[in-house]
Amino acid sequence: LAQNATPPTRTTCPYCGVGCGVLASPMPDGSVSIAGDPDHPANLGRLCSKGAALGETVGLEERLLHPAIEGERVSWDAALTAVAERFSAAVRDHGPDAVAFYCSGQLLTEDYYVANKLMKGFIGSANIDTNSRLCMSSSVAGHVRAFGADHVPVSYEDMEAADLVVLVGSNLAWCHPVLYQRLVAAKAARPAMRVVVIDPRRSATCDIADLHLALAADGDVPLFLGLLAHLHRAGATDPAFLDAHTTGFGAALGEALALTACDLEAATGLSAPDLLAFFDLVAQTPRTVTLWSQGANQSASGTDKVNAIVNCHLATGRIGKPGAGPFSITGQPNAMGGREVGGLANMLAAHMAIENPAHREIVRTFWNAPSLSEKPGLKAVDLFRAVADGRIKALWIMGTNPVVSMPDADAIKAALAACPFVVVSEASATADTLAFAHVALPAAAWGEKNGTVTNSERRISRQRPFLDMPGEARPDWWILSAVARRMGFRNAFAYHTPAEIFAEHAALTAFRNEAATSRDLDLGALAGLDAAAYEALAPLRWPLSARAAAPARSFADGRFFHADGRARLVPVAPPKRDAASGFTLNTGRVRDHWHTMTRTGLSPRLSAHIAEPFLEIHPEDAAALGLADADLARLSSPHGEATLRCLVTDRGRRGAVFAPMHWTAAYAPSGRVDALVEPRTDPVSGQPALKASRVSVERY
Ligand code: SF4
Repeated sequence: LAQNATPPTRTTCPYCGVGCGVLASPMPDGSVSIAGDPDHPANLGRLCSKGAALGETVGLEERLLHPAIEGERVSWDAALTAVAERFSAAVRDHGPDAVAFYCSGQLLTEDYYVANKLMKGFIGSANIDTNSRLCMSSSVAGHVRAFGADHVPVSYEDMEAADLVVLVGSNLAWCHPVLYQRLVAAKAARPAMRVVVIDPRRSATCDIADLHLALAADGDVPLFLGLLAHLHRAGATDPAFLDAHTTGFGAALGEALALTACDLEAATGLSAPDLLAFFDLVAQTPRTVTLWSQGANQSASGTDKVNAIVNCHLATGRIGKPGAGPFSITGQPNAMGGREVGGLANMLAAHMAIENPAHREIVRTFWNAPSLSEKPGLKAVDLFRAVADGRIKALWIMGTNPVVSMPDADAIKAALAACPFVVVSEASATADTLAFAHVALPAAAWGEKNGTVTNSERRISRQRPFLDMPGEARPDWWILSAVARRMGFRNAFAYHTPAEIFAEHAALTAFRNEAATSRDLDLGALAGLDAAAYEALAPLRWPLSARAAAPARSFADGRFFHADGRARLVPVAPPKRDAASGFTLNTGRVRDHWHTMTRTGLSPRLSAHIAEPFLEIHPEDAAALGLADADLARLSSPHGEATLRCLVTDRGRRGAVFAPMHWTAAYAPSGRVDALVEPRTDPVSGQPALKASRVSVERY
């Protein structure tokens, strides 16, 4: 940085939900110098390997730079007009539910706001879903069931202040590395802190675990039912808190007490001593934070898992207090911001509920949108099914690569190939989904985009540009607004800057959000934000209410967002066991790659960590199949195939295999693992079960 005369730009990392502050400095030789922002509360100057390598990923070699129709370069006006005309025609001929948007946790809050406003408010359908459905929608659903709103009540400081941190389905060391570094530092400073890792795999996170529970796939609900029963029997519940602030304890406890010790051991795959060690630790430690991620969310029982965890916190009153609470960590940089503006098919803007007539009236009035959708739209897996069977006539995919990342990925390819009209907004020219675009629109990328993101602890940070937009690339909010105006919605989309959009979003959160009927998301203090204040906006954690009485700590007053002010303990039952043969395929991330590698694949340094996709398999399973380290194994399921190199290791359970989800056909033609994943979803959240598909494995 010292070589550069201009001060660095303060921005935010575009990868995971930790939301680290980054100092970016374009250098005279065209490179970009990257450093952690010491003043950003999320990372205090730290960066992980992916964040530190961001400067290696801003080249233009693989950028989409010009709009195109059917592969032929066209003007922006021609491309935007074509999109507007085809979407308008589909709505006119088949109704608003014949069109859909599929968005991304990579979009900025302002982009998401405009997309949601256009689809739900003015086109009149709620068919706008996102790859965040694959990431944390079970947590959203669990929060809404328990708290009456999608509210994350814990901060990074709470995790550091806890005496016990329980990590459920989270390889924090690889997937949220800076938060892991903070946990490591907190444990080093206070060696009495205990860390429990609950994960079928002995991941890198287990390096700091006092106890690792190698849970069987989808054993989470039984485990936390067992914990609830133990807390009750040990006298560790908080009857005064339960009486004053909750309902549903009796029914939730009834489910827990119905589980026998034998059932518990069978369903979790854990020994009685290990279970007791965990249960006693939790019972004896009031300052407990339970942190979970995709291992809990990406399941056909994901929402029940979340509520089984939250039930234990509610039963013990360990919520709304320093160093205690249930903490969902999001995978993507702006999954939280997307939720805040309603970027899921079953949500309305500002965390309001689309099925709530009063909430619809608030949004309809604020937007002056008489056509506002009145019912939830299609969630991701169902949305692509509707594309496949012809119900969706026009689809717009923004900033995501579903032909690699969706379950049953080959079926997504077939669906897009059959769709009459597909629009893809993309920064990367190598994104596999572009091959199916009738219209390709070049989107601005990180370093060029200007807006906000929200991290896992509800902290809003600015992403600021430090590079010019190359070629004809444009911000997503600009593209969406231009199409909306061409569809006839001129006044509602007359935006000139992201600051205007953010100010409108903040004003909507505060609109009719009075103290007596308060909703959780309140950015009222930012409602009048002007361009200069937006530019200077420092990282802030909401609520940021203009009301004087807003609580400083979520749920500190024991008041939740259900109409009666009480939280709900949700009765949950163990999922039915799958008796099918074969292996359980668990998919996940590696440390140095992100999603489908369109950015991290550009960095030789990141690719050097793990050069190719692999299959983790237990030594006894490998021996039974005649497989040794580095042999090629062929995986197959009713949905697809992959060929992967074996990594024989006892870090996983027998009968289970693990494979990373990043590699696309461009990097590893036979490594598209999500092609094998069955499109099975959680019945409440619609989140796909990406962690437990049945596959066959054989020597290649
Ligand atoms: Fe970026 Fe996440 Fe790494 Fe922070 S921890 S630098 S947000 S990838």
